Amino acid sequence: MKLVLIGAPAAGKGTQAARLVKHYGIAHISTGDMLREEVAKGTELGNQAKSIMAAGGLVSDELIIAIVKERIKKDDCKNGFILDGFPRTVVQAEKLEEMVTLDKVVYINAPDEVMLERLTARQTCPKCGATYNKMFLPSKKEGICDVCGEQLTQRKDDTVEAGKKRIQTFHEQSEPLVGFYEKEGILIEVDGTQPIDEITKSIIHGLDA
Ligand code: AMP
Repeated sequence: MKLVLIGAPAAGKGTQAARLVKHYGIAHISTGDMLREEVAKGTELGNQAKSIMAAGGLVSDELIIAIVKERIKKDDCKNGFILDGFPRTVVQAEKLEEMVTLDKVVYINAPDEVMLERLTARQTCPKCGATYNKMFLPSKKEGICDVCGEQLTQRKDDTVEAGKKRIQTFHEQSEPLVGFYEKEGILIEVDGTQPIDEITKSIIHGLDA
């Protein structure tokens, strides 16, 4: 099963992807996580991406396409994968078509105000990558990761200012993907304002139909 998850920042892509990879036994490919790892390691790629990410922009199509092309060749993708955060532009989507045949594209849709509110309440574990939300999905012990006990942090781009820019970037550059995949007849749209479990159910229902 080869899937793509589309949605504005904080629409719930990462949370749903984590559930879907367990359900279907496929690989989770988050381009945002991959870039954050490069930033943390201080590689050349990370240094190129760092300021663009912090400002809420997109790294170049060329760069991200090259990363994904290598990633999907890995062994853990044999049974399929979920691309979380890629493609984000029509150019990326066209290149992806040359690489693989997708089964479905899931679009998690929610109003801008909801996403901005969620985004600023988001907390991430810098060690294991688990994500929480002070409003909807709090950790059991405030500020501490349930999974590994690490102190939770806020992403540098989860501020109101960067968040607004990321939502704007989504509308300008990524929203056209909805029409792109609708035309191909592989788009499933789900209401991202539902409770997390309901969103998962809607997605699985759509995928298994
Ligand atoms: P995410 O964790 O998916 O919100 O991604 C964090 C940031 O990484 C984005 O705001 C972009 O700056 C960058 N990024 C992630 N995926 C892509 C992509 N497919 N194309 C361009 N930039 C990306």
